[in-house]
Amino acid sequence: MSNIMEYQMFIDGQWTPGLTGERMEVINPATGEVVATVPRGGREDVDRALASARASFESGVWAGKSIEERAQVLINAAMMVVANKERLAYLESLTSGATIRRTTTVDIAEVAGTLLLIAMIVKELPQVEHTFFSPPWVAPMHSFWKREPIGVCAGITPWNFPLILAMYKIAPALAMGNSIVMKPASITPVTTLELAKILTDAGVPPGVINVVTGPGSSMGNYLAGHPEVDKIAFTGSTEVGRQIAHQAADTIKRVTLELGGKSPIIVLDDADMEVAANMCLLGFLFHSGQVCESGTRLFVPRCLQEELVDRMIQKIKKMVIGNQLDMETDMGPIASQEQLNTIIRYVQIGKEEGAELAYGGRRLTEGIYEKGFFFEPTIFINCHNQMTQVREEIFGPVQCVIPYDDVDEAIAMANDSIYGLGGGICSTNVGRAQQLANRLRTGTVWINTWHVLRPDAPFGGYKQSGYGRECCYHSLLAYSEVKHICQDLTPDGSDKLLNLLIGLNR
Ligand code: NAP
Ligand code: MG
Repeated sequence: MSNIMEYQMFIDGQWTPGLTGERMEVINPATGEVVATVPRGGREDVDRALASARASFESGVWAGKSIEERAQVLINAAMMVVANKERLAYLESLTSGATIRRTTTVDIAEVAGTLLLIAMIVKELPQVEHTFFSPPWVAPMHSFWKREPIGVCAGITPWNFPLILAMYKIAPALAMGNSIVMKPASITPVTTLELAKILTDAGVPPGVINVVTGPGSSMGNYLAGHPEVDKIAFTGSTEVGRQIAHQAADTIKRVTLELGGKSPIIVLDDADMEVAANMCLLGFLFHSGQVCESGTRLFVPRCLQEELVDRMIQKIKKMVIGNQLDMETDMGPIASQEQLNTIIRYVQIGKEEGAELAYGGRRLTEGIYEKGFFFEPTIFINCHNQMTQVREEIFGPVQCVIPYDDVDEAIAMANDSIYGLGGGICSTNVGRAQQLANRLRTGTVWINTWHVLRPDAPFGGYKQSGYGRECCYHSLLAYSEVKHICQDLTPDGSDKLLNLLIGLNR
């Protein structure tokens, strides 16, 4: 019996077999079973997808449409995402390990919401601005500037939120009239392929959205360095992001990088302990901790460490860890064997470096967990900010609690990181929380909550967590160029100042 789904790449509006003929397997992380295969693409597939994107761009079939027409297609696509909600959510959960309770609600809403919001705000964004101002030293001029698409974009995404992170790139790229080639992560390529088909059915012309599948190290690397790519948007590790920035430099590509994080939560001494426990658990257990902006360095007043951690443990004991496709499940499996190994390695390092294990620390292997990649929620206490598992991104359900004695010291430790993606303050004092939020060097600060990414608010990192912003109008700016057109309004003549300067009146 085989109900393994067979996918092809999506190029020029068509399902397209890879030219190498090789396939890659996609696994359900709860069971270890192969659920789908996709082409293991190579350079020729990238060339083909980029040629199709370039041709569609140059033809003006999409870039030449009005903003209103493009926005309408995005709105149609949002409706189709909602109409295909069950299938998309199922495939996203099946392949990424995300709980079905989350994908059917949050992920679908975020994907459709991003399309709708971008469709709305692209119409509000000033497309053309004018000035008739003429300084005395220039002739009367009409100057105007307008937004134009950049051209051919490439989007490379990781495996933790395949649908949402793809849409953060696709929606603004398409809204501004670009063509795009996406390369999803090898372990979760399926829903990005489905998304391309939906967008095409909604009215995006062939070639404007393409999806290639294949290994990042070869195919992704080739795409990132390709001279046909005018802009690259990458979400993934800081290590690969650094390489991409180097490669982009050769042809001065426009770049957006959303990279790793090790986000600090600072619980203040006036915090409500129930709110704090919830915030700290949400911060590191949402999607089993496989979120770039997870709150994984927990700074807590020394005298409150025990009480807070006890409360967290009581709540963890009630959580349902299990198959992600079960509506009752609160926390699903880790996305891959490789990522599970990484988590196991960091927990071992934590123990060796003297962090005290307060809870968890083990792979779950019995009963329903036997074949899957499950790991217990894990809390280390009495950590310090220099420990390896505190400094490096683990990308798993592991919390490191660092007791502090004064708030200035906590802020200094929180900012002492190469990363600057998320941060948070837990307090009952709004004014104090906001003042401290100002002092965190991170792209997002949450107060008394975590993980709230909204299509209408900018998301991105300080420091080595990346540059550029996704979502809201910031993303529209990141997918467009500005062209200034300047027209001399005076009759033709040799008395124009600049002409005079080079003696054209002689
Ligand atoms: P990754 O190894 O950097 O991979 C991300 C994507 O890049 C995948 O599609 C991967 O393809 C591809 N890739 C790998 N090597 C490449 C190369 N040399 N050139 C071009 N592309 C390459 O990251 P990951 O392991 O999938 O995801 C975890 C990381 O992503 C974490 O560090 C996390 O913090 C970060 N992340 C950041 C955000 C954010 O918004 N800031 C969001 C989610 C995740 P393959 O799958 O084929 O290897
Ligand atoms: Mg990787």
